[in-house]
Amino acid sequence: METGLKGKTALVTGAGKEDGIGFGIAESLAGEGMNVILADLPARQEHMGLGTGSMDESSALAKKLAERYGVRTLAVAVDVSDMDSCMKMAAEVKKQFPALHVLCNNAGVTLGAGQPMHMYEEKTWLKALDVNLSGMFRVSKALVPLMTEGGSIINTASRAGKVPPPFNGVYAVSKAGVIMFTKVQARELAQAKIRVNAICPGQIKTGMELWRFNLEAKMLGTSAEIQEQAQVNTIPLGRIGSISDVGRVVVFLASEASSYMTGQAINVTGGQLMEL
Ligand code: NAD
Repeated sequence: METGLKGKTALVTGAGKEDGIGFGIAESLAGEGMNVILADLPARQEHMGLGTGSMDESSALAKKLAERYGVRTLAVAVDVSDMDSCMKMAAEVKKQFPALHVLCNNAGVTLGAGQPMHMYEEKTWLKALDVNLSGMFRVSKALVPLMTEGGSIINTASRAGKVPPPFNGVYAVSKAGVIMFTKVQARELAQAKIRVNAICPGQIKTGMELWRFNLEAKMLGTSAEIQEQAQVNTIPLGRIGSISDVGRVVVFLASEASSYMTGQAINVTGGQLMEL
């Protein structure tokens, strides 16, 4: 497939963890010859035992991709919940690359798991929406002006944005917001020749997914393996997805092969979610 991506530049947020979807996306795009900017938090943070990416890890991963694929890479620090931080990231990108062609809004957090929504602390509710949904607004405000030659935006939503999950309500609400954000932006940016689509991953093997299986196991008195198998039993393709399963779909949405698609929310779930 001729992707038309070679030599162009992509930025992926939340790309600073080697087992994360963001890095899977960055690696797939680098594999197509794109220059890739890996954006993630400046320093590792922990929440209930789930760690984030950091500049140290992003820089090491950027170096690895440059060596492996012979493309230009850059690691940049960003906190998507802070407008100034997003503007600083944009200034750094602008200094080093003449234009941005592909933007993957992938940074996300899972907060508020395990309780009905009305029992959350207010700050938990606000933080989840702030990172997962308002983060996309801030990153777009900072980076869409750099997409001067047109291009493609791919937002990481979730299957949870379409189907109410048993736990993790605010996460699901934030991801439903991401899907509508995507559709609105697709209309707004069509004239600028920027297509905007969302991906809705189902069960993808990352630190976040393993963390979730452990949490469910604790709540239900089972084990992480049992929780994982319970999910696999509901997936027609019979396996948990990999970060490169997601990365390949992003390559398609970034490339000329999807030039007549915008405003879509594409399920990447091994058939776990099927819609008319
Ligand atoms: P992950 O925890 O490995 O990745 C999340 C990334 O976002 C990390 O690199 C983290 O450092 C970054 N991040 C968090 N807060 C940030 C902030 N304020 N500013 C900048 N970066 C920040 O988890 P993952 O599973 O790779 O998730 C990646 C995306 O995919 C998320 O948006 C998640 O909601 C979504 N998703 C994951 C799954 C799955 O099965 N793993 C399914 C559906 C959707």
